[in-house]
Amino acid sequence: MKKLYKIGGILSLHDDELQALAIPERVIQVKVQIPGADGKIKTFIGWRSQHNSALGPYKGGVRYHPNVSQDEVIALSMIMTWKNSLLQLPYGGGKAGIRVDPKSLTRAELELLSRNFIDAIYKYIGSDIDIPAPDVNTDSQVMSWFIDEYIKITGKVDLGAVTGKPVELGGISVREYSTGLGLAHIAKLAADKFLDGIEGRSVIIQGFGNLGSFAAKYLSELGAKIVGISDSKGGVLNYDGIDVNKALEVKHRTGSVINYPEGKKVTNDELLVSQCDILVPAALENVIHKYNAPKIQAKLIVEGANGPLTADADEILAHRQIPVVPDILANSGGVVGSYVEWANNKMGEIIEEEEAKKLILSRMEKAFSEIYKKYNDLGDQDLRTAAMVVAVERVVKAMRARGMI
Ligand code: GLU
Repeated sequence: MKKLYKIGGILSLHDDELQALAIPERVIQVKVQIPGADGKIKTFIGWRSQHNSALGPYKGGVRYHPNVSQDEVIALSMIMTWKNSLLQLPYGGGKAGIRVDPKSLTRAELELLSRNFIDAIYKYIGSDIDIPAPDVNTDSQVMSWFIDEYIKITGKVDLGAVTGKPVELGGISVREYSTGLGLAHIAKLAADKFLDGIEGRSVIIQGFGNLGSFAAKYLSELGAKIVGISDSKGGVLNYDGIDVNKALEVKHRTGSVINYPEGKKVTNDELLVSQCDILVPAALENVIHKYNAPKIQAKLIVEGANGPLTADADEILAHRQIPVVPDILANSGGVVGSYVEWANNKMGEIIEEEEAKKLILSRMEKAFSEIYKKYNDLGDQDLRTAAMVVAVERVVKAMRARGMI
């Protein structure tokens, strides 16, 4: 919110316009119940926030996490509005979350939870209305249950109603790794501008889920050296370099990267403030705040997660002249991949993997250039401000044209 008011100042928006931009169009709260394996009914709470549809149908992921709250889902749906606008996708912003620890459920329970969630929101989604996708702790299997349930209930084989699906159900193989690929590509462009290139740069990645692990793979392919990784159990630091494939194997075999054999074991808090050139917070929001921002040693931060920095951290890092590549650009490979999948579903086409990759990366490159230009034009503002000015302005123009403000 603080950030939006700042952007409002730069774009000379008045209070009513800011209010119209801030308030989500609709927030759906649902109760999702499943009979547990122990015979007792389990009850969960969830939300879908449909923030803004000025540019098109709402678009954004669904997360499963024990700490999900309504405020969080709304904030994340607003980030999606700016992200989709920045990348010039024909979408508004949305996000969903169910307050659940998916690790505590059996596979059958998880399937039922996912299907029942769609039963609760199916009236409000569709390829021209609102298009869910993966987010924290959800993947192509969850999307398969979503689309199957959606088709069963509505009787419409509207494959574009959900993205991040497996190839068999109209998904594209690139979507699985497009967030990590895109992030590595953007990190390279930013390192070229701010660090004299990516080659040999040391990188710490906090979070080793879909995004963190693919980002690590592609960053090392681009010549960077991964020196630190972590997951929810903790992390490992090794300045000789971490072998990404080995880390993946350890994670699959033992459940956590902390069992990576070579290196020093650290907590997530220690990892974030350790020595490196590039820091990629790729887990959850608000991990860099006013208490640890002064201690960050990285020379460049590339946001993998949505909202990993608080507004205070942003100010501290701007003051310390540590550039931060914002989430709405850095992790946009996911939703751009979703867009390619959705467009294919709409047209009944199948795109080649290489062509899809090129499309995603060129779209992100274009957004990077646009932000970098705005950053230089503004002169005294950080990259996030530049990105938000571009994104918010586009939404404002669409809202004005439609008479929404
Ligand atoms: N959850 C991802 C994000 O935060 C992807 C959303 C999508 O593909 O719609 O950008």
